[in-house]
Amino acid sequence: MADAPSSVPRSLLEADQATLRAFIVARGGKAFHAKVLRRAVLERGVLDYEHITDLPAGLRAILSEELPIFSGRLVDELTATDGTHKLLIEFPGRTDRDKPVSVETVHIPPIRPDRDPNKGATLCVSSQAGCPVACPFCASGLLGLARNLQAHEIVEQYVRGRALGPLSRSVVMGIGEPLLNYTQLSTALDTVRDEMGLGGRKLTVSTVGFPDRLRKLAPQRPRFQLAISLHTPDQAQRDRLVPAMAGVPIEDILAAGDDWFEQTGREVTYEYVLLGGENDSEGHALRLLDRLRGRRCSVNLIPYNPTPELPFYRPESGAPEYFRDTLVEGGLTATIRWSRGLEGSAACGQLRLVR
Ligand code: SF4
Repeated sequence: MADAPSSVPRSLLEADQATLRAFIVARGGKAFHAKVLRRAVLERGVLDYEHITDLPAGLRAILSEELPIFSGRLVDELTATDGTHKLLIEFPGRTDRDKPVSVETVHIPPIRPDRDPNKGATLCVSSQAGCPVACPFCASGLLGLARNLQAHEIVEQYVRGRALGPLSRSVVMGIGEPLLNYTQLSTALDTVRDEMGLGGRKLTVSTVGFPDRLRKLAPQRPRFQLAISLHTPDQAQRDRLVPAMAGVPIEDILAAGDDWFEQTGREVTYEYVLLGGENDSEGHALRLLDRLRGRRCSVNLIPYNPTPELPFYRPESGAPEYFRDTLVEGGLTATIRWSRGLEGSAACGQLRLVR
């Protein structure tokens, strides 16, 4: 059957298969060239049409002229001394009246590539431009939400990130709350898994943990690892630290995490940003232990990365280790995740929307 007429796509990644086929056929190519093209870009990471030599030269010239691979524009990039690389990508508005938005994507290479040359980087990806959750310690939520990213804009981050070096895993933990843009995210992750070859166990989605949404999703057995940002065992403090979740009982979130494990067979990781003098005391560790003891889960402790305009501090030296040891001695699996890319403002909680 002939492809339905479709509008001219703004970029290769934005075009679905039917649109891409129609575009190519209208310019004298063959329908199967659409697949060749996507495979070259998504599977092999070829980002210059000239190098896709399994396409006719004439078609390559037309594509170079008329169909950019990305809809976004790289407006800035920074490399920290540890090799962490931050990309600032600007995406155009969806209509002419919309303003462009910028998001950040961070490529974090392995710490000791010489010890494990086969290990690739971790890519931290944004799901929204800005974030409506507005955690007071996080630069990403400072300006609120501009808009949801579209699936192809999320995929673009993966394609650009992989161009910096092979990826071993990715975390959707950049700017935004992934479950508030789940349809687009899920379409994007399908592409990343099926066409770019980054498997489900290597993809982690990090959320503040909306229990109703998690309970709806779990029976679908989504093919990613789930991380829930908890940040404190105390209800009043969580209401303050994660304002969009104020009033949602911590016990309900943990019960949704338990359901997730039962339905998907995958343990939840609880993320805990350690804020100096705020939630890093021994009492917090013991109360967290009480909350999580007996549950199938693990804990990631993330010592806070300061942002100049925010009134939160890094924990004192030794405090993260003491907190971790308290959890581990109580029988939990807990790991400290020292963020990298600090001086490039590319560490956890330091990404921000630029307008
Ligand atoms: S910590 Fe996460 S959920 Fe909270 S404001 Fe930042 S990006 Fe949003």
